[in-house]
Amino acid sequence: MALSLNVFHLFYKFKVLVLVTLCLVMLWATFSYFVDSRQEISKAKSMVEVFRKVTSLEDSQKEEKMESTAKVPTVKAFQGHCPALSPYLRGASKLTFKASLTLEEVQKENPQVAKGRYHPTECSALQRVAILIPHRNREKHLLYLLEHLHPFLQRQQLDYGIYVIHQAGSTKFNRAKLLNVGYLEALKEANWDCFIFHDVDLVPENDFNIYMCDRQPKHLVVGRNSTGYRLRYQGYFGGVTALTREQFSKVNGFSNSYWGWGGEDDDLRIRVEMQKMRVVRPSADVARYTMIFHKRDNGNEENRERMKLLHQVSRTWKTDGLNSCSYKLLSVEHNPLYINVTVDFSVQPKVS
Ligand code: BGC
Repeated sequence: MALSLNVFHLFYKFKVLVLVTLCLVMLWATFSYFVDSRQEISKAKSMVEVFRKVTSLEDSQKEEKMESTAKVPTVKAFQGHCPALSPYLRGASKLTFKASLTLEEVQKENPQVAKGRYHPTECSALQRVAILIPHRNREKHLLYLLEHLHPFLQRQQLDYGIYVIHQAGSTKFNRAKLLNVGYLEALKEANWDCFIFHDVDLVPENDFNIYMCDRQPKHLVVGRNSTGYRLRYQGYFGGVTALTREQFSKVNGFSNSYWGWGGEDDDLRIRVEMQKMRVVRPSADVARYTMIFHKRDNGNEENRERMKLLHQVSRTWKTDGLNSCSYKLLSVEHNPLYINVTVDFSVQPKVS
């Protein structure tokens, strides 16, 4: 009797064990089913994502291709950084200057420029560039420069603004001081990375001459039509130069002491070299300019003091420059094609 009871108990335990094992197996099977299907779902999701990316990239490449044949880039295709070299560059072009050209015509040609500024919509520009043009009595030259510079800068996919710094009154012209004013006033409006100091009568001929700043101060005019496209002299640093905000502030900007024509650009080069920076230039085949012919202006006679001033740069640069540039600001107007900053140097501003 006792034996049959023992056998019964053993059999019962065995059945329970089998049942528990069965339950565990079923639980494990259900669990692994759910884990597998979740993995499959995320795999499927990432495949869809990859496919989506490939097609959108193809679309944007198609759009970019279409755009590269367009005159001005307009398609919002790709929101990353703009490429190091814009696809819209054309190389050398023959410049013409129509006598009857008007500001309205130039405005019509540049519908995407507003209040003197432009930025590409298809990508984010590599640098924010302020073009500073010192000016007095050269309206026609300014018009020709704006006509050529706006499309040129747009083809380079730059985020840019054009500032014309106008010297009012009849005191001797001071190009360098006007450029210091341009730098200081432009930085009140936007956080510019790079400054192009640009003469009003020089028009670039080749859009591979990129209006961006380098690791070193850059001189953009290697040659001009009026000098047989040869560099004037080894240390020449005039016409058009590009310095980053930091490079220009490191040298304390231009000297304010050069009244009349000449010397201020040589002074800037000395400042640059004193800070152990060196002037770089693009290749001679692209750094070419057409100079619009003109006579020397009244009020911009040659500065005969310039050699004396140039001998003193090492003593004067720290106290004569951006940190001592005083001026009376008459107005800042936002015209459609440029920002017009008017200053008077004949009166010293009141110290408040
Ligand atoms: C002047 C510079 C000028 C250069 C080229 C030099 O004598 O000092 O200011 O840019 O000649 O004309």
